Amino acid sequence: MSFPFKTLSELDIEGRRVLLRVDFNVPISSEGRILDDNRILATLPTIKALQEARARLILCSHMGRPGGEVKDELSLMPVGERLAQLLDEEVLFPDDCAGDAARRLSRSMNDGQIMLLENLRFNPGETQNDPEFAEKLGILADVYVNDAFGAAHRAHASVDAVTKHFNERGAGLLMEREYTMLQRLGETPEKPFAVLLGGAKIGSKLPLIRSLLTKADVLIVGGAMAYTFLKAQGHGVGKSLVDESLIEQARNTLQRAENHGCSIILPEDHVVVQEIDPDAETRVVRNGTFPSDAIGVDIGPASRALFAEALSGKRTIFWNGPMGIYEMPRFGEGTIAMAKAVSDAPGFTLVGGGDSAAAIRKAGHAPFIDHLSTGGGASLEFLEGRPLPGINALIPH
Ligand code: ADP
Ligand code: MG
Repeated sequence: MSFPFKTLSELDIEGRRVLLRVDFNVPISSEGRILDDNRILATLPTIKALQEARARLILCSHMGRPGGEVKDELSLMPVGERLAQLLDEEVLFPDDCAGDAARRLSRSMNDGQIMLLENLRFNPGETQNDPEFAEKLGILADVYVNDAFGAAHRAHASVDAVTKHFNERGAGLLMEREYTMLQRLGETPEKPFAVLLGGAKIGSKLPLIRSLLTKADVLIVGGAMAYTFLKAQGHGVGKSLVDESLIEQARNTLQRAENHGCSIILPEDHVVVQEIDPDAETRVVRNGTFPSDAIGVDIGPASRALFAEALSGKRTIFWNGPMGIYEMPRFGEGTIAMAKAVSDAPGFTLVGGGDSAAAIRKAGHAPFIDHLSTGGGASLEFLEGRPLPGINALIPH
């Protein structure tokens, strides 16, 4: 496979300082406990490969949305500690990302040594793609490697503007794997190809749906997104989450699917409650009998069977977004059923999106999925065919 960027093995890194952009944006508790370290684990192969090549490693990442100011609860310190534990060695941790301390340390590091910079978004220049901030990051190192696929869809300083300061730059092993897997799905997916979509953000996912319609044989929609489509078809959905401003677009999308010979499957029944509460009393209702005061929180048993049947035997499956409010276990059964159906499929399976990947892991099905993407938004934009700033910036001049 050929890549638009240089891969690790093509970069000259021995004894040089490498600025490695990673995605350590992990969920963290208010006491600073890391709740899920999968994103850290996913970058270990790249870190180890660079250490073996005797690079001096300077890692940088964002975490959360501190809004350009220092917020102690979003410090990367706990991530640095976890990384030191995983690698069983010291990780230098200056208290800033592009100031004097980081600069001084970058000059005194030994080959193979590691430093982690403080949260990039403590500086307003990061999200503004600010050239001055990018320059401060740029002078820390000689080579740039981007392994933060999850941040590749954002033109931020550490992903975009910083690359101007490096002649030698390329992609890490995780970025390379994400690219390979998504490319396989984006170009010529083996048919029949099914897409399973859920979650809440219909606004950001409609463009993807419109682009996938031309490639997919079947599009299955669950989660809150389904209610906007059902309403567009004239069904009552009570007080379920609907984006009124997108009903017309949803209707057009259904029409477009028909024109392209792609069938769209929507839920036939729903788990409903009177109020969203983990202990709320639940009922199952079918389309046509949806009570006007009820809220849909999961796909019902008939829909689970219908969706699983539509997924069986497909050669390619892409899944993004949970089927219900799966954070509340009693509304998570539809999502778990789909995790099982997707992992049982014999073909190539790819799951993108933080919530869907978490559901797959929770159900213990991760080993049966070909690729769990670390990037939610980035994987969607890639599949839509939009150029990702983080990948474009790696392309040699
Ligand atoms: P992903 O992170 O996988 O891309 P999204 O962020 O779009 O998915 O959506 C995930 C959110 O959608 C979850 O927090 C989930 O609770 C919510 N959700 C799913 N179904 C419903 C529903 N029926 N009503 C309200 N929220 C829902
Ligand atoms: Mg999400």
